[in-house]
Amino acid sequence: MSTPQARTDELAHRLRAVRERLSRACTAAGRGVEEVTLVAITKTYPASDAAILRGLGIVDVGESREPEASGKALELAGGDPPLRWHFVGQIQSRKAKTIAGYAYAVHSLDRAEVADRLAVARPAELGPLAVLIQVSLDGDTTRGGLLPADVAALAGHVEGLDRLRLAGVMAVAPRAADPDESFARLHAVSEDLRRDHPEAVAISAGMSGDLEQAVKNGATHVRVGSALLGARQP
Ligand SMILES: *Cc1c(COP(=O)(O)O)cnc(C)c1O
Repeated sequence: MSTPQARTDELAHRLRAVRERLSRACTAAGRGVEEVTLVAITKTYPASDAAILRGLGIVDVGESREPEASGKALELAGGDPPLRWHFVGQIQSRKAKTIAGYAYAVHSLDRAEVADRLAVARPAELGPLAVLIQVSLDGDTTRGGLLPADVAALAGHVEGLDRLRLAGVMAVAPRAADPDESFARLHAVSEDLRRDHPEAVAISAGMSGDLEQAVKNGATHVRVGSALLGARQP
């Protein structure tokens, strides 16, 4: 076990390296670094790591599973500054109610039924829940996400739900494909969506291994886990 100070030093070092990568990618793309939000994906790591990252200036943290996510959100609630929890994993319908109770954003919406459940459960005092529609770029929707052709219908459905705010699109680059080409396709899906929903500007793309290609293709959010926290146990 590392000491808390050693872990803080390690996370500070890793965060600096990720910020440098982001900054270089933004410069190469002719974009401002403030255009891209770094979401630290803390799954499998303890809440204490998210607290350390908060101390290092991270506000946006992401998780992919319940009850791990709500457990950490509860543990760190009331801290300063407040963390914004992004849910990025596949959502089982029966977990939607819990997620609506603490999340700032859901990146992985791919079903109208889940949208309905999130909207019903969203406490009014938290304000609308930002939702991004997850797009499957290789047609394998078993790993989450909708086919590009089905995005418009779900977007229209979300628009009818008061407590949700349609924020944009999200994708995970298919393993077998070139991420640059995959994220270019996600960007095209985003352009189509924005024609009918101009406010849905978010593009959540890019992880530890491909954040440069995501930034090049217009990502507004990168979801970085292992580069910040270390390799996860399989
Ligand atoms: C785990 C996860 C990430 C982070 O992946 P890394 O390769 O560790 O950066 C990003 N997005 C989703 C949806 C994830 O499940």
